Amino acid sequence: MYSKILILRFPKTEVQKPVVCNLTKKFDLTFNILNAAILPRREGIMVLELSGEKKHFREAVRYLKDQGVQVQNADQEIKRSASRCTQCGACTAVCPTGALHVKRPEMEVEFDQNRCSLCELCIPACPTRAMEVRPTNSVFFE
Ligand code: SF4
Ligand code: SF4
Repeated sequence: MYSKILILRFPKTEVQKPVVCNLTKKFDLTFNILNAAILPRREGIMVLELSGEKKHFREAVRYLKDQGVQVQNADQEIKRSASRCTQCGACTAVCPTGALHVKRPEMEVEFDQNRCSLCELCIPACPTRAMEVRPTNSVFFE
């Protein structure tokens, strides 16, 4: 059983949709809402513990992001060390979401954290250890 605590940030347009219920229906995951501040027509934030098969977890995070929800691991996040990255491109071959991709025509490897599904496949794939799991700074409600 795979389990993580996630911070979800919902844009104004998504707070009315049953996005969280779909995590159970579509991906067979269970969730436990630990904290939430969600108001109609306002941006919302929710902290929940999500549990289930790791593969389903990854698919669910991708689904949430496709719905416009920002997803952040409550205690860890994926970062790239610019000083260690040699632009070799190895990570782009394993990244399932396109968060790591080659920008053309510059041919630079870019990291778009908003598209990252937290799968961690890039960590062992990077020869210079530029991709890292780091502790998340802080969690706050507005
Ligand atoms: S953890 Fe790495 S491989 Fe996985 S989606 Fe994020 S950037 Fe891509
Ligand atoms: S595998 Fe590592 S060094 Fe190569 S482009 Fe990706 S982050 Fe940079």
